[in-house]
Amino acid sequence: MKTVEFHTCECSDKRAFADERAADKALGRAQAKRDRTAERRGQRRAIERENRIYQCDFGMWHLTKQSRRSFEGRTALYAA
Ligand SMILES: [Zn+2]
Repeated sequence: MKTVEFHTCECSDKRAFADERAADKALGRAQAKRDRTAERRGQRRAIERENRIYQCDFGMWHLTKQSRRSFEGRTALYAA
């Protein structure tokens, strides 16, 4: 079996990435895959997909489906 490039993190059982670049690459792949699926089904807009990456309290990077608005709201809370 191939080595996986993601890890687990203590904050959740989501996939976690050790650095932003790896998370960003994974996000791009996830979006491309979802887009192809959505096009086949003819419901591109309706489908949910990961659209953000963020760094959690444990220093790992995760993908999230949060909208930009709620993401920035959370970031503001953390920064306060
Ligand atoms: Zn985490």
